[in-house]
Formats: sequence, structure tokens, C-alpha cells
Amino acid sequence: MADYTHELSIALLAVRQAAELCRSVQRKIGSDSISKSDKSPVTIADFASQAVILEAIGKAFPADCLVAEEASEVLQAEPEHLGQVLELVRRFHPQATGDELCAWIDRGQGAGATSRYWTLDPIDGTKGFLRKEQYAIALALYDEGRLVLGVLGCPNLPADPAQPLINPTETSTDMPTGHAAGGLFYAVRGAGAFVASLDGRSLPRPIQVSTATEVANYRMCESAEAAHSRHDASASIATSLGVSGQPVRMDSQAKYACVASGRAEVYLRLPTKPGYVECIWDHAAGVMVIEEAGGTVTDIHGQPLDFSQGRHLTANQGVVATNGPHHDRILAAVAAQRQQDVAGQQ
Ligand code: AMP
Ligand code: MG
Repeated sequence: MADYTHELSIALLAVRQAAELCRSVQRKIGSDSISKSDKSPVTIADFASQAVILEAIGKAFPADCLVAEEASEVLQAEPEHLGQVLELVRRFHPQATGDELCAWIDRGQGAGATSRYWTLDPIDGTKGFLRKEQYAIALALYDEGRLVLGVLGCPNLPADPAQPLINPTETSTDMPTGHAAGGLFYAVRGAGAFVASLDGRSLPRPIQVSTATEVANYRMCESAEAAHSRHDASASIATSLGVSGQPVRMDSQAKYACVASGRAEVYLRLPTKPGYVECIWDHAAGVMVIEEAGGTVTDIHGQPLDFSQGRHLTANQGVVATNGPHHDRILAAVAAQRQQDVAGQQ
């Protein structure tokens, strides 16, 4: 097994910097300067996050393929936004020019499907970002046929599960202290999964999935958006498993962090339309963190997620992530629900 210590230290620093920029933008939503219906904060934070992270990865590993969600074309058509992104990025790169900024962003146009690549979602869960709820900065490395490293920066999900979810409006400075800091969840293949606070004030500690085996007491999480995962289907699956608790709905790969850190036992992502193919950056970091925390991730048919196909998970449909012991039973409940659906349509 190769040593990924250098990759991890670069990735952690880059995600921390991006999270700091995103937090500073999210806190202003709903204030005098940014109205709640204004979508531009997410655009600005998204591009700034991608620029800062791809600058760092591109400089440290110039030969690596980078696969990221955004392209600078959209930004170049909006000079006002470009200026705002540049202002943010200059916090870490005081001399940056607009051309450099766009070049950093466009490093992410790689096709994937190479023996080694990085994949980045600079802000996963844009709807959650705008609602001032959960979002994640998600970075992963694929090498020699498998995911080997994942980092999830979750600015509003505390590192300590005993703490409540963070409301960014209640944090007044750029880098909050103590309990108000979000979590930096990360894993390297074979070395375990960890969480540290994003502000670096608490030492990293190992995380593990829940050891619960009583399915009726399982906590299930799913997308906040009904358009991204079928809420009606997950409700009937929960009933068939005897689960009575309400689903925990949240945006972004923070759901993977919840299962990895024992806050929930199950994350279901049930396709809402037949042709939808998941993007690799929406899952890679989360899958890595759950697997190293001892959990299991497959698609709804029980197949492992196949990250060798390019920018999309073309060989898979949906996601089922669990703490492990009853993965097959949960897959069977998903399959039964789908059969009922088909029967209902005939
Ligand atoms: P979540 O926050 O879990 O709802 O996931 C957000 C991600 O869902 C976004 O990054 C999109 O790439 C992805 N997405 C968009 N449309 C769909 C869809 N129809 N089904 C599943 N995921 C989607
Ligand atoms: Mg996303």
C-alpha cells in the first residue's frame, strides 16, 4: 500500500481553507448585504472553494488528473461575480489575478477514468448552503483501482456528536472557537477514519460507525430534497423494517459523515427518475470515510460504487450506506419496495 501522508496533509489544509471561505460567505446570507433569495453567494463560494483547493492539489501533484464540478466559463460571463471570487481567494493568494483564478478552477475538467485522479465537490448541498444548513466540501483521491483518501469538510456538523448542529448565524467571527466549529472528517485506505474540528483546536480522533444491531431502532438519513431521493419509498422501507423514528433529512455528504461517526445507521438515496446518473464528486469522499469507519456502501442493487467509469457512476443506481450488520436485510427491503412499485404501476 502506497503512503498517502503527503496527499492527506495537502488535502486537509486545502479543505480547511475552502471551508473558511465558504463559512464567511454563508454567514452573510440573510443579512443586509445578501438577501435570502439571492443565489449568488453559493456561486461565489463554490468557485472560490474550487479555486483554492485545485491550486493546492495542482501545485503539489502536477501530474494528477483533477475532476471537479465547476468550470470557469460561467464565471467569466459574470464579471461582478468574478471580482467577488477573486477577493475571497486573495485571503490565501494575495497576488492572484482573474486569469490565474480561472486556470485553477479549470484544472478540474479532467475526465476521470484514469488510474489516479482527484475528485472535488467544492460545495456539495448548495440548497443547504443557501438555507444556512448543512453542506460539505468533498475531496477524494482514487489510485490503483480504488478510492484511497477522502476528506469531508462539514462546517455546520460539529466534530463532537454530543453537540447540536451548528447555526452559522450564531457564530460571529470567521473562525469560531470551541463547540461552534464544524467537523473535518477524513480517511485513508487501511488507516481508519478520523474527525478533527475544522478550526484545528481539537486533536483528530478516530470515528466508527454505530455498533447498533436492533434495526427497529435504526436512525435513517436521507436528502432534504425530495427531488434527489424518494421520501415516500424510504418511508415504506422504514415501515417494512419496523423502524418508527422519523428520518433525519439533511443536504450534502454530511449524511455520510453522520453514518461514519455513529449519528445514524442508514443513509438511503433512492432514485427519483430512471435516467439519473450520480456524479462521482457527490459520493467519493463520503464512501471512503464510511468504509474506513467500518460501514458498508453499495448501490441499491448491492453493487459496490464503481469510480472507474469517468465523471459519473454510470454502473450504479442510487446509494445504500449502513453501519454494516444488516446491510443485506436493508437491501432486501429496498428491492421489495421497488417490486411493489412496479406491481403498483401495472
Ligand atoms: P443532496 O444534498 O444529498 O440532496 O445531494 C446534492 C446533490 O444531488 C447535488 O450535488 C446534485 O449533484 C445531486 N442531484 C441533482 N439532481 C439529482 C437527482 N435527480 N437525483 C439524485 N441526485 C441529484
Ligand atoms: Mg454535489
